[in-house]
Amino acid sequence: MSKDKQFVREITPQGEDFSQWYIDVIKKADLMSYSPVRGCMVFKPDGYEIWENIQRELDKRFKETGHRNAYFPLFIPESFFQKEKEHVEGFNPELPWVTEAGGEKLEERLAIRPTSETMIGHMYAEWINSYRDLPLLINQWANVVRWEKRTLPFLRTTEFLWQEGHTAHEDEEDARRETMQMLEIYRDFAENFLAMPVIIGQKTPSEKFAGAVDTFSIEAMMKDGKAVQAGTSHYLGTNFAVAFDIKYLNRENQHQFVHTTSWGVSTRLIGATIMAHGDDRGLALPPKVAPTQVIMIPIGPPKTREQVVARTDELFAELKQAGVRVRVDDRADLSPGWKFNEYEMRGVPIRVELGPRDMENGQIVLVSRITGEKKIVQQVNFVQEVQQLLEEIHQEMFNRAKQHLEEHLITVDTLDEFKQYLETNRGFALAGWCGSEACEAQVKEEAGATSRNIPFSPRESKETCLVCGDKAKHTVVFGKSY
Ligand code: AMP
Repeated sequence: MSKDKQFVREITPQGEDFSQWYIDVIKKADLMSYSPVRGCMVFKPDGYEIWENIQRELDKRFKETGHRNAYFPLFIPESFFQKEKEHVEGFNPELPWVTEAGGEKLEERLAIRPTSETMIGHMYAEWINSYRDLPLLINQWANVVRWEKRTLPFLRTTEFLWQEGHTAHEDEEDARRETMQMLEIYRDFAENFLAMPVIIGQKTPSEKFAGAVDTFSIEAMMKDGKAVQAGTSHYLGTNFAVAFDIKYLNRENQHQFVHTTSWGVSTRLIGATIMAHGDDRGLALPPKVAPTQVIMIPIGPPKTREQVVARTDELFAELKQAGVRVRVDDRADLSPGWKFNEYEMRGVPIRVELGPRDMENGQIVLVSRITGEKKIVQQVNFVQEVQQLLEEIHQEMFNRAKQHLEEHLITVDTLDEFKQYLETNRGFALAGWCGSEACEAQVKEEAGATSRNIPFSPRESKETCLVCGDKAKHTVVFGKSY
């Protein structure tokens, strides 16, 4: 077997063991390391840069819609958690506590934040006095900790990086408008930046955020047919305003509680992007989020090498000037074949090859990571051709993921039908649900699938509950999830 083939064999095929494929790929592509602390991970530069690209784009969108960044403390006094009953019940099992510091036992335990509604609620009560202070639109980029039982790098870690938006409004209407606006920003970001189609909808009461009135989510399908909750937006009503006494003087000079929202996405998006697009050759990163969008590889015999490398450098400079994230690999001691495999495995969207014959013809070769297709283009059009191909690759990746989602989303009338499907397939089921927690729990128990959300626009509405057969209140998407 050739060296090239052996190289690919170091990655477990998806069909054999998808979880092992994922671990092989993120390690081999050098995105992360396990850490000595259980459930925590190290983001290596290529992994962290994916996060930086996500951050930059989302931050831009948040600011365009009037939000500003602030930073709140990592530690939250225990008494804050006692103020909102559902919130404390939901988060208590996952909280790590600081009980001692500076060699002394603390008078009050401090939680390491799992989310900041309580701390921010406390501060908003100080900051908000009148309707003129509203809406208050703040976002925080931070790390949070949730002591998860099951962990998986990026997708579910005990410490993770995220953004959490926290806003306060005069009334329900304005707060709900904000909740939907941010959900829509997440949808658009997932689809148009990560090339990852999502199902947008409302969480059922049993799956909603602890302390929220309503939780909305975007749900994505991984290549193994499992779901990832990729982002959430919550309408919190006056729950936190009452708990933290966040009141304002309204236009009629009366004291009223504000209505608040919160919304977040995390480094889970990195894992979701990898699982939504990768293949047996390794990572496949959507162009907009890829740390390296184009890798340029000069090829050919030693006697023309200097000339080829010089021309590669010129074209590299043009591309860099145009804002493309491009690198050159001109290491002479590694074969082109080795390099081709290496960058395919790392998911670089476009490979550029330049050899002596291309030099003579004024041409250059572009190869798409996703289709493997070679395109010979004129060097004079190099920058436009690359930009166009990056756009095409994004679209192709989105289309493939969308087709996968549609093909693995079945419509069922009964739980048995879904269970039968899951025996030989992986995917989601669209089904009617009567609204009872017992029926939802039965789906979980028998099919191992949870309700993902109640989609805003299901392709079909179902009339009866998949479990009890009673009249359906909602059409729900069920699926196994990460
Ligand atoms: P939540 O505050 O529970 O609505 O969570 C906000 C977002 O954070 C979710 O939509 C997830 O994408 C993400 N998230 C929640 N728990 C974890 C975790 N343990 N690791 C990584 N991301 C998480």
